[in-house]
Amino acid sequence: MSLLLPRLESQWPRIGIMGGTFDPIHIGHLVTAEEAREHFNLESVIFVPAGLPSHKIEKKVTDPEHRYLMTFLAVTNNPYFSISRVEIDSLEPSYTVNTVRFFQKIYDYKVSIYFITGADAILDILTWKDYEELLEKCIFIAASRSGYSLEKLKDKVEPFYPSIFQKVHLMEIPAMAISSTFIRRRVREGKTIKYLTPEAVEQYIYKSELYQEEAEKSQ
Ligand code: ATP
Ligand code: MG
Repeated sequence: MSLLLPRLESQWPRIGIMGGTFDPIHIGHLVTAEEAREHFNLESVIFVPAGLPSHKIEKKVTDPEHRYLMTFLAVTNNPYFSISRVEIDSLEPSYTVNTVRFFQKIYDYKVSIYFITGADAILDILTWKDYEELLEKCIFIAASRSGYSLEKLKDKVEPFYPSIFQKVHLMEIPAMAISSTFIRRRVREGKTIKYLTPEAVEQYIYKSELYQEEAEKSQ
């Protein structure tokens, strides 16, 4: 392509953003991101651990640096994956809209942003800060998640936002009833977490003595 010609919108890089608390990251997150990358032909997926997650403000969340390092360990061997500190380094609660604005600016507004979420998260989209701006600025990929029906988007969101299905693509992933809550509980109970998260993350959890104490956090 000639350097003199501006890239058309359809030729802009497609970047995936995978936001989460990642307390800890697990194979559910990784499989979802990889499936989205392949299915939507994304150039890369940027994992963005939340600093102070706005929806978990009342809950006790593990130190951001631990969550950042575990996420780093988990994504480092996939050349398409990277990690950003944008939310970790912000002193404000993490709002997706701010993160999307940040990445648009980084790419000089010439980027197609695909925000990757699980079914549980997308069902709450109408409660997200500036959700209309968000739906305008990016495309959402909503991955199936055991226990949550993506069908509910029709009843819950469509009446308030009729063009929701132009902006949210549903993606079936191999069913994995796994969550960070489940991993934390197993560590606390002294049960194995092998294969639920990459080995480096598992070792990090034990070495740093994470999740030993009762501090139940909900999904
Ligand atoms: P917690 O149990 O602490 O809430 P979690 O497993 O839900 O943790 P989060 O960090 O809250 O993980 O989730 C980040 C994103 O990943 C959300 O959009 C969530 O829906 C999605 N996600 C998490 N686990 C899965 C899974 N097993 N399958 C598909 N999506 C998932
Ligand atoms: Mg969750």
